[in-house]
Amino acid sequence: MKAVRFFGHKDVRVVNDLEKPVPKGDEVLLKIGGAGVCHSDLHIIDEGTVVGTVFTLGHENAGWIEEIGENVEGYKKGDAVLVYGQWGCGHCKPCQQSKENYCDHQSEQAYGGGLGLDGGMSEYMLVPSSRLLVPIFDLDPVIAAPLTDAALTPYSAIKRSLPKLMADEYVVVIGVGGLGHVALQILREICGAEIIACDVTEDKLAFAKELGAAFTINSKDVDAAEQIQKITGIKKAKVVLDFVGATSTIDLGTKIVSLDGDLTIVGLGGGHYQYSMNGLPFGVSMTNPYWGSRTELMEVVGLARQKKIHIEIEKHKLDDANEVYERMRQGKIKGRAVLIP
Ligand code: NAD
Ligand code: ZN
Ligand code: ZN
Repeated sequence: MKAVRFFGHKDVRVVNDLEKPVPKGDEVLLKIGGAGVCHSDLHIIDEGTVVGTVFTLGHENAGWIEEIGENVEGYKKGDAVLVYGQWGCGHCKPCQQSKENYCDHQSEQAYGGGLGLDGGMSEYMLVPSSRLLVPIFDLDPVIAAPLTDAALTPYSAIKRSLPKLMADEYVVVIGVGGLGHVALQILREICGAEIIACDVTEDKLAFAKELGAAFTINSKDVDAAEQIQKITGIKKAKVVLDFVGATSTIDLGTKIVSLDGDLTIVGLGGGHYQYSMNGLPFGVSMTNPYWGSRTELMEVVGLARQKKIHIEIEKHKLDDANEVYERMRQGKIKGRAVLIP
């Protein structure tokens, strides 16, 4: 079968010679409908965040059950499902609470398809357990694939700040890409705070307005912090969600976050932050959340089924993976690119 494989630093190739896996025991084989292209793949490909193994890329996956191992119950051929991307041990307390993104054993094991183990940029994908599947009912797997990360990650980040996101507050979203464009819609739908969006291109800022941002700021501008403070006034932004995570965006976040606010850094842009007593207003919680839980993914499916969030999709073939990654490096993808076998 065909697959997009990571061979090492900056070496991604489309191969045709993989065997179609056969599921055993608890395993499930999926026929892939779509695999989302996440910026984290670029951190793997260009910066070596996962090293030493050859594997199939794609950690945002959805498809239809093709075949089940002999121990699997509750699923049948043709059922449409998402693959929850963080594969924990399944036994520790966080895993039992469905928070496999914070599994106690994360540092000891390869933890997901497309993240060291074979992922979904392929015709078929082997999932180790039906525990990791979330049914999507009438949703189309091609469109639903990015729910597993581009929607789940911002959803979980927003949910932890929900009590602070009331209608008399401001929230700032930095980076209106795959994750950020869904974050804007989730904020619009589940809380009242007024939304300020930042990106570095005018087309992304225009897109942000369509998705519910009341104000947009080009964060390339040296005085972006000042422009935001003109909007928020003295109270500043109660929550800042940084979907870039570069030193410059973290720095911007520290300047615009309010007393007792949340500065939430989701982007893995390799930025640095040096704590100093006067560098942050008192009471700020600075966090670096990672994905979300399995039950939160079910809630995200609910938002999508109610049409409260819509993922802007570009459809591409597996063969085009390298071109798509190049367009992502250049910030040229609107919403999410999805590879379709
Ligand atoms: P993307 O490439 O789709 O979007 C990035 C957006 O940020 C683009 O619109 C780009 O124009 C904008 N941008 C770039 N530099 C900027 C700057 N200085 N100021 C403002 N905007 C800027 O990326 P994505 O797939 O949405 O991923 C975003 C980040 O989140 C990546 O670093 C990715 O690795 C990370 N990520 C983290 C988690 C997690 O669980 N923590 C999960 C998924 C992705
Ligand atoms: Zn991702
Ligand atoms: Zn665990």
